[in-house]
Amino acid sequence: MQIFNPADGTLIKELAEDDAGSVAAKYARARAAQPSWAAVALGDRLGAIEKFKLQMERREDELARTLTRETGKPIAQSRNELNALPGRIDFFLQNTKRALDPETVLADPQMREQITHEPLGVVANISAWNYPYFVGSNVFVPALLAGNAVLYKPSEFASLTGLAIGEMLHAAGVPADVFSVLIGSGSTGALLVDQPVDGVFFTGSFATGARIAAACAPRMLKLQLELGGKDPTYVCEDADVKNAAESLADGAMYNAGQSCCSVERIYVHERIYERFVAAFVATVKGYKRGDPMDETTYLGPLARAPQLAVLERQVAGAVAKGATLLAGGKRIARPGNWFEATVLSNVDHGMDLMREESFGPLIGIQKVAGDAEAVRLMNDTEYGLTAGVYTPDEARAKRILAQIRSGSVYWNCCDRVSPRLPWSGVGHSGVGVTLSTYGIQAMTRQKAWHLRAP
Ligand code: NDP
Repeated sequence: MQIFNPADGTLIKELAEDDAGSVAAKYARARAAQPSWAAVALGDRLGAIEKFKLQMERREDELARTLTRETGKPIAQSRNELNALPGRIDFFLQNTKRALDPETVLADPQMREQITHEPLGVVANISAWNYPYFVGSNVFVPALLAGNAVLYKPSEFASLTGLAIGEMLHAAGVPADVFSVLIGSGSTGALLVDQPVDGVFFTGSFATGARIAAACAPRMLKLQLELGGKDPTYVCEDADVKNAAESLADGAMYNAGQSCCSVERIYVHERIYERFVAAFVATVKGYKRGDPMDETTYLGPLARAPQLAVLERQVAGAVAKGATLLAGGKRIARPGNWFEATVLSNVDHGMDLMREESFGPLIGIQKVAGDAEAVRLMNDTEYGLTAGVYTPDEARAKRILAQIRSGSVYWNCCDRVSPRLPWSGVGHSGVGVTLSTYGIQAMTRQKAWHLRAP
């Protein structure tokens, strides 16, 4: 498999791909190794993950460079991801025991009832490339801590990062067969899903998630799907226009808009619409685009070339239906996968731009008459990952957000994930939950103990 640098199209490395034989062999070795890993004391499993964290901190510079070279993510943003990871891992280190301790729910003299949290067994972890450290570790860290063996298939666009994760876990004391990395494209992912694993944890697009769900359906296994979003934000007329515009421009354009929780559509109250749009465009035009290895670059290339055509189609379709192009709008003629930061106003839900995931530096801003219209439009989507409201009025924000069908809601912020809160989606954004203590328990099955005294 060839790994290309999306910033200039050059070949970085060639890797041997897993095939049907090696996938089956890694599965068999994981199955054999899992019971001994589950028998390791939790304190020792926690110790291994602590060592993994220390290794990552030590190798931060090299790992950030690798991530930038293979995904095109600006180096400062690669560093942000790596620097935020220890905090996430600390959450798991501090909360796994509490989440997995046996619970006694009835303690009568004659009858006791208990719940234990048993590892699932061997789990498949198929991951996206956009935040490979975050979306990978959300699954493999609690999965390993809970006593599972993990077969980890990084996206083919983050394979070098996936291999580095494997090296660091093994050096930290996780046995090689308990955490295996599978290298390859979607077909390798499909081979993995075909193994008789006990759980499939997938992060990626709705289209692939739906294929995986269909493949898993007859097998009654644990399935979690963390999928895409069309994340809306509503800016009320009492919001601080400049702050909201700057915050939302960052939420839309960070990592070139390639986040599952990127702001994908904005609704603005008609009383401040023109001022908001002007401030938003000015912020976007101030972003520095360029070599992702430059520490001052904010906007880099897209990781995947096919997405350029998706963005072009959304822009052309919107403009043909009457949208106004205020910034960007086209590919940049240079080697690699470059697209201008693009802002459109006068948009509506007749345009794909406002309904289908863009997953790029592209945003539509729509005028609304008030809260009721904003709520209706925010819910007019198959997705339901995140949604936000900007207003100084907390009660109003909560009233609006209570009506929105989505896994996470934001007041005066956006594009934010916390290890302490459950991360989940509604509708085409997926099923299941990662992060929080629920995301730790998701790596286990609950066993019910009915214990009658003799
Ligand atoms: P894809 O769906 O293209 O791929 C995701 C993973 O699935 C990759 O490892 C891919 O391999 C693999 N894959 C592809 N086809 C199959 C198959 N038939 N069977 C098994 N595995 C397969 O998504 P992207 O990697 O492009 O990620 C972007 C998407 O992920 C966006 O929609 C984004 O919103 C979503 N996402 C959601 C998050 C969330 O938490 N809800 C977080 C991050 C991203 P390969 O890449 O080698 O083809």
